[in-house]
Amino acid sequence: MGSRGGAVTRALAGFDGGAFREHLASLVAIPSTSQDPGYQADVQAYLDSNIRPWLERLGFTVEVLPNPVAGFGPILLAERLEGPDRPTVLTYGHGDTVRGLEDQWRQGLSPWTLIQEGDRWYGRGTADNKGQHALNLTALEAVIAERGGTLGFNLKMVLETSEERGSIGLRDFVSANADRLAADVLIASDGPRVMPEVPTIATGTRGIFQFDLVLELRPGGVHSGHWGGLTTDPAIILSHALGNIMDRNGRILVRDWLPQNGVPTSVRAVLDGCPVGGGGEAATIDPDWGEPGLTPAEKIYGWNSFIVLAMVSGRPENPVNAVAPSARATCHIRYTADTDPAVFEPALRKHLDENGFGAVRIEKAAVRMAASRTDPAHPWVRWTVGSMERTLGKRVQVIPNSSGGLPGDVFVDLLGVPLVWIPHSYNGCKQHGPDEHLLIAPAREGLAAYTGIWWDLGESGTP
Ligand SMILES: [Zn+2]
Repeated sequence: MGSRGGAVTRALAGFDGGAFREHLASLVAIPSTSQDPGYQADVQAYLDSNIRPWLERLGFTVEVLPNPVAGFGPILLAERLEGPDRPTVLTYGHGDTVRGLEDQWRQGLSPWTLIQEGDRWYGRGTADNKGQHALNLTALEAVIAERGGTLGFNLKMVLETSEERGSIGLRDFVSANADRLAADVLIASDGPRVMPEVPTIATGTRGIFQFDLVLELRPGGVHSGHWGGLTTDPAIILSHALGNIMDRNGRILVRDWLPQNGVPTSVRAVLDGCPVGGGGEAATIDPDWGEPGLTPAEKIYGWNSFIVLAMVSGRPENPVNAVAPSARATCHIRYTADTDPAVFEPALRKHLDENGFGAVRIEKAAVRMAASRTDPAHPWVRWTVGSMERTLGKRVQVIPNSSGGLPGDVFVDLLGVPLVWIPHSYNGCKQHGPDEHLLIAPAREGLAAYTGIWWDLGESGTP
């Protein structure tokens, strides 16, 4: 008959024996980047020749369908149904990666070869996202084997291949297949844990609202000796405009941009004691930066932040003795589900006008990624926490938003499912640069946790 413990032991035996590493190496070896042209065949092969036969062996019905938007990668849809009286889970992953950046990896490493060094597996996609969905399917394999070929629940899977281009087509695809994808809950993996050693559940994503601030004062630069001191410098005005949006300690001054009722109680509750950081040498946490009165965890998971992505006036690479004609800054806001992004542009316009910056234009303002969130106290979240803590024997940290981007809004909006994201990576994994890697210990823990979850879904007591 098999047992929960037997399933976990089975999964970990394969992991410790090297089978998982070998399998992941074969997935990493496919250069399925969606960001460089010319890799369409590799993206297709990732689904057709690798994931599809694996899922079919596990008893899924699999289709690889064209992306509803021309020019974007195919989407795999798989179903493994056991009966309408059992819970139905939807899982998700992406088979595409960011570009290889072959020439930028450290000596001895390369993007399409899995290389183990110490406690890490290096290679493009090890963390984002091949390693993560491969762990979840390996856990599933162990449960099916332990249960003698059954699962005890229904499982559906969407694996897209345009995530690194903004999940183009995913919304149309899910909308067109909404009946087939209907589920009780989404349980899937992407992104980082809050700290490498802390098992984490994220129940949403912060959105991104991006815009340019532009000040154009004259057709061309003018001589700094003849005109400096007489004519307005656009770089100075734009700097003051930015200083008017955020003070020198990182507090947002456009108060209409912020959650009007503060951090919600259920969000504050799960963030109590939540650690932040874990990215190694990547960046410092500056206690005096950001909204006063919030904890570091509330600042990053429960609040909105404003970031200047790039700014330019004149030509920094080739300066001339002139007052520049214009200045431009590209900025974005990371926002939680507590703010309606429709307020951002009008509130900014009003704020700039009221403060004497009427000449600063707002251009290309748009939502780049929508925010989503399931209440961290949702029964499916609590159930999953319980299952993971039972397997791992340690506390699971719930966060209301992943710090990275996930297309959860699509599933919430179109399928109405609660979101349970269980990340297997960490902040220092370098997933969008050279030297991407997966930490082996969290991956092993993630495999065990998922095996427990898949097992428990086939038992009684699900929400
Ligand atoms: Zn990514």
